[in-house]
Amino acid sequence: MRTLSGPTDRVIVVGAGFAGLSAALHLAGRGREVTVVEREPWPGGRAGRRDVGGYLLDTGPTVITMPDLIDEAFAAVGENTSLRVELLPVEPAYRTEFADGAGIDVHTDADRMAAAVRDFAGPREAAGYLALREWLDKLYRTEFAGFIAANFDSPVSMLTPQLARLAGLGGFRKWETMVKRHIADPRLQRVFTFQSLYAGVAPQQALAVYAVIAYMDTVAGVFFPRGGVRALSDGLAAAAKNAGVTFRYGSTVTELERTADRVSAVITDTGERISCDAVVLTTELPLTYQLLGRRPRRPLPLRTAPSAVVLHLGCRATAAGDARLPHHTILFGAEWDQTFTDIIRDGRLMQDPSLLVTRPTASDTSLAPPDRELLYVLAPAPNLARGRINWADAAQPYARSLLDTVEQRLLPNLGDDVELLHLDTPADWARQGMTDGTPFALAHTFAQTGPFRPANLIRGIDNVVLAGSSTTPGVGVPTTLISGRLAADRITGTPSRSTTNLDLKARH
Ligand SMILES: Cc1cc2nc3c(=O)[nH]c(=O)nc-3n(C[C@H](O)[C@H](O)[C@H](O)COP(=O)(O)OP(=O)(O)OC[C@H]3O[C@@H](n4cnc5c(N)ncnc54)[C@H](O)[C@@H]3O)c2cc1C
Repeated sequence: MRTLSGPTDRVIVVGAGFAGLSAALHLAGRGREVTVVEREPWPGGRAGRRDVGGYLLDTGPTVITMPDLIDEAFAAVGENTSLRVELLPVEPAYRTEFADGAGIDVHTDADRMAAAVRDFAGPREAAGYLALREWLDKLYRTEFAGFIAANFDSPVSMLTPQLARLAGLGGFRKWETMVKRHIADPRLQRVFTFQSLYAGVAPQQALAVYAVIAYMDTVAGVFFPRGGVRALSDGLAAAAKNAGVTFRYGSTVTELERTADRVSAVITDTGERISCDAVVLTTELPLTYQLLGRRPRRPLPLRTAPSAVVLHLGCRATAAGDARLPHHTILFGAEWDQTFTDIIRDGRLMQDPSLLVTRPTASDTSLAPPDRELLYVLAPAPNLARGRINWADAAQPYARSLLDTVEQRLLPNLGDDVELLHLDTPADWARQGMTDGTPFALAHTFAQTGPFRPANLIRGIDNVVLAGSSTTPGVGVPTTLISGRLAADRITGTPSRSTTNLDLKARH
């Protein structure tokens, strides 16, 4: 593996999202002097936060998976996750509701889930589920250390016996095709393929290697940090600070000072100059290139993932409580396949919405005022490169129509006193600097996967490493935590105890 040349004692990490926090922890744990420069007043990045009338909103990720990677980040500085944040298991991981009125809870426990599948679709499908689970488990074990959590120097460095094993498992076939081998019920197929949306690709198009996302949430389990997702970023930042990392919040990096092939300092909007030996950039790719004075050299233009509209609602406790609404519910529209055509190919709003409805107060009532509940509704939407939607006009009517869908399909007693606490549309993500108005960065198409994704080293610049969702391994909390560790490895070399030795067993 290639590493940075020259001294790397003082490292500046730009950005305190999960990638930056992970990089800072791993580097501090390996004896580097680390300064994190973050433009916002707090850590978390797009794991954003907003407080509205006594409600504590998480504006970014809600489905937290792979706690082992969180443990690994804390362990990098000799800490234990449980000292900083309480990760509550979310059970069921999801409830899924189909347009025909049927539904199934997704349990992490194999026997419980097999029983649920048997009740839903019969014993044959239950056996199919267990075989699928075994395949997902093998896929994950084959892929994790060698591909997801590894630095590649070139596509050639991927040519290992593991690659042949991955191909043998069907990893380079289509995700949906592989799930169909085990499961015949189209509704159940969705339960194990909808996650391709997280990768920004339709299940029919997505490579089966990305089915590891289905492993992460249906097999390894979903968790929720008590106090909200912000408690996780706050905990990681506190551990980093305790390990000696300096945080400069409210400071925007505007320039990188270059001396020949090295960055010698970062300059902030307040005119501060912070000198360094190495830099980790976790910024969005266009800004990264702008700061580096570079243009990407790629034969094909980069393709961004679809975006999302997110509604944050406050409602009376009985509305959600009486319906026994679990932490996460996925409402599948009847026209599920059409959803991908709508948002990815045609660039228009879903004609028949499929939604993720999250109720954080199911796990922690302190996130809403007394007798109230907090809801988060995520609707996949076209990004600004695909869709020509005027969000200034469309946002409110669309929010109203999504609210109607939730009321009709899930919460008939939502009531007139439901409050729209906050709304984010692709235009809002764009205002926060996210390319094409998508918070999900580059789509995980074949040409943007593994060694074909923008690499974390920059040719011709000797002391800069990239981390975050636009580089390897990709989008999501687990992957950006890994990307921070991979960036640290590029700086220090891989220490003997690494993720390859991580206990891969789920917590259950
Ligand atoms: C609505 C939504 C839902 C999501 N749902 C999930 C989910 O359920 N599960 C999941 O795993 N993932 C989910 N994600 C994706 C996940 O949140 C991201 O992939 C991940 O948080 C990205 O982390 P990052 O560190 O790469 O980037 P960021 O979090 O964007 O961090 C980059 C940081 O750099 C800072 N910065 C940028 N420019 C500068 C500058 N010039 N100077 C100083 N600082 C700068 C930014 O303020 C930011 O804090 C979701 C994201 C969103 C927005």
